[in-house]
Amino acid sequence: MSIILDHVNYIYSQGTAYEKHALQDINLKIEDGEFIGLIGHTGSGKSTLIQHLNGLMKATEGCIYYNGQDIYDSDYNLKELRSKVGLVFQYPEHQLFETSIIKDVKFGPSNLGLPALEVDLRAYEALKQVGIGEDMIDLSPFELSGGQKRRVAIAGVLAMKPEVLILDEPTAGLDPKGRDEILNLVSSLHKENKITVILVSHSMEDVANYVERLIVMDHGKIMFDNEPKKVFTHYKALEQIGLAAPQVTYVMNRLKECGQSVNTEPTTVDEA
Ligand code: ADP
Repeated sequence: MSIILDHVNYIYSQGTAYEKHALQDINLKIEDGEFIGLIGHTGSGKSTLIQHLNGLMKATEGCIYYNGQDIYDSDYNLKELRSKVGLVFQYPEHQLFETSIIKDVKFGPSNLGLPALEVDLRAYEALKQVGIGEDMIDLSPFELSGGQKRRVAIAGVLAMKPEVLILDEPTAGLDPKGRDEILNLVSSLHKENKITVILVSHSMEDVANYVERLIVMDHGKIMFDNEPKKVFTHYKALEQIGLAAPQVTYVMNRLKECGQSVNTEPTTVDEA
């Protein structure tokens, strides 16, 4: 699996007074088995970017290649791409609608035209992966806690057997315990299933402990793309782009933990 973005631009409402250049010359390569954190303040372009990765949005300019194939080719199978690149939206539990957990999780794979037995197997396996026991599968999703609902929603995407799992702010609205549970779950999905994971967040604390590569966005551009400890050395620039003060403190502490001097020449936004 590989995804390449080559000079991707996206402009909302192009040609109108509301025009917004949300992605600016994005160049990225995402490789098999990576665990990536995508971070940036609200409005920096994270959601717009991830919706390009599974073809939900089409670049105004530029190309995207999945496994070397141009996804904008007229004969490219975008439906298949959407099952390979699983996207868990913010508050995914709002999309649960079936009368039971198991029916909800089966919904996605049953739309792939798979045999019923395969759909069943996938649904059971996905629920097991997210830690929802067999004793719960006939319950209504609405009887679950917030964290459990979210895990069921993630199972619905896992049941599609994606090669890449993208989660948009998966900890939003959860208490600290629910937050840790979801982050540990995502981390174990990556480790045990070797699935490529992209974790989208505006919170450094959420991503920095887990990911191996950190992509920082600002105003539709990629500002940094490196291992977390290298990104952290740019704490001044991170502060300037609105990653809030507690997050910068966290960054400083991480720098110390990594044995790096916090007096390393900080970059500013201009230098970055
Ligand atoms: P993030 O996910 O980092 O919060 P978004 O990708 O949602 O950022 O937004 C990037 C920019 O595009 C923001 O300036 C936002 O206001 C703008 N934007 C997002 N969605 C729309 C839309 N449907 N129409 C116009 N502008 C939009």
